[in-house]
Amino acid sequence: MIIKTATFEISNSDYKKCPTHQKIEIAFIGRSNVGKSSLINMLTNHQKLAKISGSPGKTQLINHFLINDTWYLVDLPGYGFAKVSIAMRKKFEEMIRSYILKRKELTMLFVLIDIRHDAQNVDLEFIQWLGESGIPFGLIFTKSDKLSKAKAVQSVDRYKKELLKAWEELPPVFISSSVDKTGHDTILDFIDSLLIG
Ligand code: GDP
Repeated sequence: MIIKTATFEISNSDYKKCPTHQKIEIAFIGRSNVGKSSLINMLTNHQKLAKISGSPGKTQLINHFLINDTWYLVDLPGYGFAKVSIAMRKKFEEMIRSYILKRKELTMLFVLIDIRHDAQNVDLEFIQWLGESGIPFGLIFTKSDKLSKAKAVQSVDRYKKELLKAWEELPPVFISSSVDKTGHDTILDFIDSLLIG
């Protein structure tokens, strides 16, 4: 898929106020600093997009971008915030949870994981919850340029082994780098297959 147009549409704190349309939504989520904005920029080839979600006040909202007039890319706020109050965290979690569980248009949720890190409980618990809730999701291991190819593969294999302790089947897994554009075609081809199917 070639992304020709990518336009910011709306930010929301409530899934009920998300835009009404007949298109599919592909969402991206991950802990802050995982490289989500950079990945969205890389995939869409559009430097301004993630800047919009990254602008003050918007990082904690559900951001909708219309892509090629055919599907929505949804930039979700991060989970597992360390630096906010428990009350704020609860509010974010409720917003994310409602969107993920109730948004019918959500067709695929990409969970971003820094390829350099060992499996963290906060990610594993989130993945576990997605699986138990029957949410279609995939994993994207970011910043692969920071490791050698062999080490990157090892790291992903370790993560898969961790997941296989709890699950019989693995979700689709992708490796990305916003620096050398690894994953660009694979991820967009996968999204393309969701649009067709
Ligand atoms: P976000 O908080 O998840 O949106 O993360 P950002 O996209 O803002 O990235 C966080 C930091 O990681 C920034 O300093 C980026 O330059 C860096 N970064 C993001 N993606 C990559 C990548 O693929 N490779 C490398 N080497 N650095 C990256």
